[in-house]
Amino acid sequence: MKRLPKDLIITIDGPVAAGKTTAARLLAERLGYCYIDSGTMYRALAWKAIQEGIDVSSPTMLLDLLARTELEFRPGPERLRVLVDGEDVTDALRLPRIETASSILSVHPSVREELVRRQRQLGIGGGVVMDGRDIGTVVFPDAPVKFYLTASPEERGRRRFRESPHGTGSLEGTLAEVERRDRRDMERPASPLKPAPDAILIDTTFLSAEEVVKELESHIHRKLRDPRDFLLA
Ligand code: C5P
Repeated sequence: MKRLPKDLIITIDGPVAAGKTTAARLLAERLGYCYIDSGTMYRALAWKAIQEGIDVSSPTMLLDLLARTELEFRPGPERLRVLVDGEDVTDALRLPRIETASSILSVHPSVREELVRRQRQLGIGGGVVMDGRDIGTVVFPDAPVKFYLTASPEERGRRRFRESPHGTGSLEGTLAEVERRDRRDMERPASPLKPAPDAILIDTTFLSAEEVVKELESHIHRKLRDPRDFLLA
């Protein structure tokens, strides 16, 4: 990785529990890049909406909320830390109800537009690995290296279940929720989840996190051999 420019943007998209977060974090660490988890922004807005009792199916109310809320995103090697009106809420964003609300509010085009603007601001200088659902297709369509990770629905459901707090929910319930969220992401008219035409597809069903990162690195190496791939960086 010696010749890797310091200012590349590497995008990683894919459905729930495809292994994006772990792979993106490890990759960023190895490259000395920042890891930016764009889902955190949707979750932060969901957190604030729930705090204020705002209906997440109303784009007008959400935009109003966004306009009067101070959202500060601090990229770092671990994960994006989020301050909402000065309060660090990063650790509360993993709760299931926040997850569901973030999935529902992310279908609104006007909400996406505003969050995409902020994602571009954070990533524009490069030196970032950003993951999400539309990073390679919409946020940074000119990024020189794009990945799309996926895994079988059963494996993704199992992974999500293992990550959930002990004693909460069932495997079947988790699988159903994963499928619901994927369907919302894939079927929404605004920036639906799909691989960018130039994304490298990786199925992580039978791969460990270490194997996934190795594969990402070898694709980046391969691309590096042809410097023309970086003209758009
Ligand atoms: O990735 P994460 O699960 O944290 O994202 C939370 C929700 O935000 C997802 O269910 C997805 O609907 C939405 N999202 C999105 N576009 C992104 C990142 C996340 O629509 N770039």
